[in-house]
Amino acid sequence: MAGPRKPVVEVRRSQRRRRTVSAYRDGERVVVLIPDQFSRAEESEWVDRMLARLAAREGRLARSDAELLARAERLINLYLAEYGTQALPASVRWVSNQNGRWGSCTPADRSIRLSHRIQDMPDWVIDYVLLHELVHLIVPSHNAHFWALVGRYSKTERARGYLEGVAAVSGTP
Ligand SMILES: [Zn+2]
Repeated sequence: MAGPRKPVVEVRRSQRRRRTVSAYRDGERVVVLIPDQFSRAEESEWVDRMLARLAAREGRLARSDAELLARAERLINLYLAEYGTQALPASVRWVSNQNGRWGSCTPADRSIRLSHRIQDMPDWVIDYVLLHELVHLIVPSHNAHFWALVGRYSKTERARGYLEGVAAVSGTP
């Protein structure tokens, strides 16, 4: 297996930073922000750690749209089998421009989008959000029929509680 190309890393030290380390990609470079008081050894340890974390995140992003469609098919088989292709989306994608909503569905073109903010959440939470959007392909509104179908998934209430908790902490709906 060919290893990934090692990116150019730019380390920025900040006096205001105390303990937090963050990293982001800026074109070909990766910028790693560290506290000013880090030693060289700490710097090198954290750069490696942040590169691994970025690669893991991007690896998930790269393969996840295909995974999402497979996940959708599994959920349809488990919970919406009698609806068959009526519940099958034309596309399911991760998106990063969706603030305030965990998922959305456009029945007209049968497309479903899930926010990247749930990408690192437990599988059972992602399953709930995806099933919620799949049911919208059958029932557009949040009526009793809608919730009866979503409620076939036994972790629906637990997942809704989880998401409400996250929203309360992060200050987003
Ligand atoms: Zn909904």
